[in-house]
Amino acid sequence: MAEVQLRHIDKRWGDFVGVNDFDLTIPDKEFLVLLGPSGCGKTTTMRMIAGLEEATSGDILIDGKVVNNLEPKDRDVAMVFQSYALYPNMDVYENIRFPLKVRNVDPATHDEKVRCAAKMVELTDFLHRKPADLSGGQRQRVALARAIVREPNVFLMDEPLSNLDAKLRVSTRAQIKNLSHELQVTTIYVTHDQIEAMTLADRVVVMNAGVVQQVGTPTDIYNYPANTFVASFIGSPAMNLVEGKISNGVFSAENMQVTGLSTDIEGDITLGFRAEDASVPKQGQSADNHLDGIDAPVFSIELLGEATMITVKLGETLVAVKADKEYSTDIGQPFVASIPASICHLFDAKTGIRIA
Ligand code: ATP
Repeated sequence: MAEVQLRHIDKRWGDFVGVNDFDLTIPDKEFLVLLGPSGCGKTTTMRMIAGLEEATSGDILIDGKVVNNLEPKDRDVAMVFQSYALYPNMDVYENIRFPLKVRNVDPATHDEKVRCAAKMVELTDFLHRKPADLSGGQRQRVALARAIVREPNVFLMDEPLSNLDAKLRVSTRAQIKNLSHELQVTTIYVTHDQIEAMTLADRVVVMNAGVVQQVGTPTDIYNYPANTFVASFIGSPAMNLVEGKISNGVFSAENMQVTGLSTDIEGDITLGFRAEDASVPKQGQSADNHLDGIDAPVFSIELLGEATMITVKLGETLVAVKADKEYSTDIGQPFVASIPASICHLFDAKTGIRIA
């Protein structure tokens, strides 16, 4: 059982605030992903949990015990880094075994533990290879096995997939997901890749500039982003955000109108909708209602294989809409898409905070 509690954690270097009032309980067995752009404080948060960085204020509890003053080795956490951090002169077997030796685990148990961890990450056939003779994905699996063999209370993973090419990233991601299901160990995982976050996490913490923006399940964060930062960080492509005015439930912006919005708000507003939620009339058919949606010339066309992404420009704002894979058009041609009120998200024009 390892619940991790972060109680009002701050990290400051002089006047610079790296992490600001991070306050969260991570229940036993949860897979929590810290997500945000470069420099938002993810790694610093992780390093404070590991004991590699001291919190300026606040308490960190593992399993109900304050660990602020415990050395990293006494915290019972295992870290996996993006750089793998393997010993080049040791073969895979010895690399995996290393933490057992350091921690004085009974030598009679080493062989079974090493082979069991290697089997979990499908490295049984590579035990006598040196790291230099492995692919990037295999090296990262050695690093995972070395964390597993310790049987820690908490796994900390800092961008473990970021050095892998796109294909390996997908397969290693699936392996981590499967492992976490088997091991059932509390895991805190840092990434700036929202697809990794959405596919792996039980809950995601979205951070920006040291401040937690939203904590929620991937579905919650996708469906109900708390503000325009989260809306523009989650989803592929990110949510379209259009600035305009609202009056009597009707939103208007250049080349765009949406009617029937259920809100009392009047005046400036930011309206969001996702490319995949808009509907594009079949080619050759006219839109049901030209005015309830967007009507603007095509700015760019991207063929995605399973769909065609059409981008239009509304004033200075680029807006993406997903059309059928058969949809064919040209830059500069007129384009209409219907945007019903039911797919729209409304954000305060000044603060960016979600209204509805
Ligand atoms: P990345 O995805 O690029 O690794 P991150 O979200 O993990 O970014 P952190 O490494 O946690 O970001 O850094 C958060 C902020 O704290 C950054 O602006 C960074 O420059 C700053 N920072 C980190 N370590 C120190 C330090 N020792 N002294 C001063 N500032 C630091």
